[in-house]
Amino acid sequence: MNYKAPRGTYDILPEDQSYWRYVIETTHRVCRLYGYEQIDVPIFEQTNLFKRSVGESTDIVEKEMYTFADRSDESMTLRPELTAGICRAYVERKLHGRPQPLKFFTIGPAFRYERPQAGRYRQFYQLDVEALGSQDPAIDIEIMQVAWQIYEEIGLGGLSFQVNSTGCPECRPRYLNLLKEWYESRISGLCQDCQRRYGQNLLRLLDCKNEACREISDRAPKITTALCGDCGNHFEELRSYLDILKRPYEVNHRLVRGLDYYTKTVFEVWASGIGAQNAVSGGGRYDGLVKVIGGPETPAIGFASGIERIILAMKQEGIIPPELANPKVFIAYIGTAAKSAAVLLVQELRSGGISVTALWDDRSLKSQMKQADRVGATYTVIIGNNEITSGKYILRRMGESAQIVLSPSEILPRLKDGDFS
Ligand code: AMP
Repeated sequence: MNYKAPRGTYDILPEDQSYWRYVIETTHRVCRLYGYEQIDVPIFEQTNLFKRSVGESTDIVEKEMYTFADRSDESMTLRPELTAGICRAYVERKLHGRPQPLKFFTIGPAFRYERPQAGRYRQFYQLDVEALGSQDPAIDIEIMQVAWQIYEEIGLGGLSFQVNSTGCPECRPRYLNLLKEWYESRISGLCQDCQRRYGQNLLRLLDCKNEACREISDRAPKITTALCGDCGNHFEELRSYLDILKRPYEVNHRLVRGLDYYTKTVFEVWASGIGAQNAVSGGGRYDGLVKVIGGPETPAIGFASGIERIILAMKQEGIIPPELANPKVFIAYIGTAAKSAAVLLVQELRSGGISVTALWDDRSLKSQMKQADRVGATYTVIIGNNEITSGKYILRRMGESAQIVLSPSEILPRLKDGDFS
């Protein structure tokens, strides 16, 4: 029987792990710099949480969720994004009782039943950064800067922000009316998806990729001209911070993001080296979400970034992450007595904090030395019959012919202080 990984999933093989480690460690470091704490939430939640938060008429909820009835017949969903779970924890664990704002990050898999292509998977990893409890645009810029600094430290080039405002429950309905009127006489020129969206999710008409739809949406009224005073000021203040920090950005009227919960600021970070999927992250404010899922009124903002896309961009740009450490020592042995001594020494060195590997299977010395080379060990210990008789093992630094002989108990301290004279 042939088993295959499910479509849209992949395996992260050892040779790729250095990329993953680098992105994850950079995220941890940058988040700590900005005072964001790690939080982790389940990878599945009650289906209704996502329906309520992401929004019933979004692509995610309509078409992309992995939803199943568990054995108690309760409807569960593999998380399609990470924000909803964090907000659920915020409400359920009464985190709103703590001094605000709370600043969190989390890293983990998300699941969407999408058409797989480069940079688009059905299981993908997101790093997700959220600040709950402040409505200050200075927090908006802080969140955007977290994303920026992560990419900058990783070394991605051609970074820029796309920004827009999606208004608030006061001004957005007014704008939606304007949009509805504008599109009314133009419905027949829209693609089928947009004709359907017209009745359900008007904002999404703006980000349709279909050319005919784009021509129409280019001329549609822009939300930034319809914002209420509060939203207008918020957007102005955010833009002033982008100017102060000299971050390249563009006000993108098409940027509405696919999730219902956004209010005010929405943004993406674009990077070169990503091709058609040029957004390496996306996020925005969601001031209404915590209330919607049963908590107190809580302004909040966050972003999520696909780790695969970051790695794709790294590879396009030839960014090589630091190598993961190779084993420091390889132990080669010949003969039964030497093998027992090797089993013991391997354990003693590992317990002493030195990374060690051996080949076992009683191979020839030549193939053991080949393996030592292949794993990139710095030192080899060689134990044969002579060494067992003399009680002194050979320690050799790879790539050098010089070698020293040491009794087993001298090896660990010598490797620890790195003295090879
Ligand atoms: P979203 O949650 O849709 O706002 O997406 C946030 C970020 O997650 C995007 O900018 C991508 O980097 C990443 N992303 C979203 N969907 C996928 C997917 N199917 N495969 C890989 N990355 C994704």
